Amino acid sequence: MLTIASLLPDLLGTYGDAGNALVLASRARARGISIELLEMRRDDELPEASLYFMGGGEDGPQRLACEVLRASSLGARVRDGANVFAVCAGLQILGQHFSVEGDDEFTGLGLVDIATRRGTTRSVGDICVQVGDHLLVGFENHGGVTTLGEGVRALGDVRNGRGNDGVVDGFRAGTMWATYAHGPVLAQNPWLADELLATVLGEDVEPLSSVADLLYEERCRVLSPHSSFEVRRKDPH
Ligand code: GLN
Repeated sequence: MLTIASLLPDLLGTYGDAGNALVLASRARARGISIELLEMRRDDELPEASLYFMGGGEDGPQRLACEVLRASSLGARVRDGANVFAVCAGLQILGQHFSVEGDDEFTGLGLVDIATRRGTTRSVGDICVQVGDHLLVGFENHGGVTTLGEGVRALGDVRNGRGNDGVVDGFRAGTMWATYAHGPVLAQNPWLADELLATVLGEDVEPLSSVADLLYEERCRVLSPHSSFEVRRKDPH
């Protein structure tokens, strides 16, 4: 039995990111893998799980979510090997600090060496990221610009949109995965759901064909005439 938990969907729930946990659970169940799906709301204790999901959120709820998680055992669990999949505000919270509202710097959970400052423009629109052989597609809406510390690996290279800084998106650090893409991103990119599932299980998963897979293939087909577009290195300042 694999236990997964959505963290604070009441605070980090913009754009339906809680759907990421539902997608992972449904793709696991379709393969006969039993899944327990839990949820932690702001007054709850952190449940024990192998994989935690964190979504995006507006600046105020993001700071509150960071406080709630700082007071929880999330850091200890991650250090013990629990996996995390985080989107946007969730990504920023995992880092050293973020300053998204005014110029205040807010201390993050410090589980990964990244830092987020406020850019002068907000990035709103479609995002496309090259992750190995795959395209990751989604939607972004954030004011933060994130810098990865030395040795922190990005999830992929931005082909369209901003992601962290106009060059790369997200990170993979130890057992943590993060991206700026909403969607929910695992619904729009079933290959990523399967890669995450296989990593958490520690074994390959059988291929699966679902409507989501067909939609993803169709999106890639539509994007492919543009696949030679230049990697955009926008100035995020
Ligand atoms: N509040 C953060 C920002 O604007 C994150 C936004 C989000 O999660 N969509 O950068």
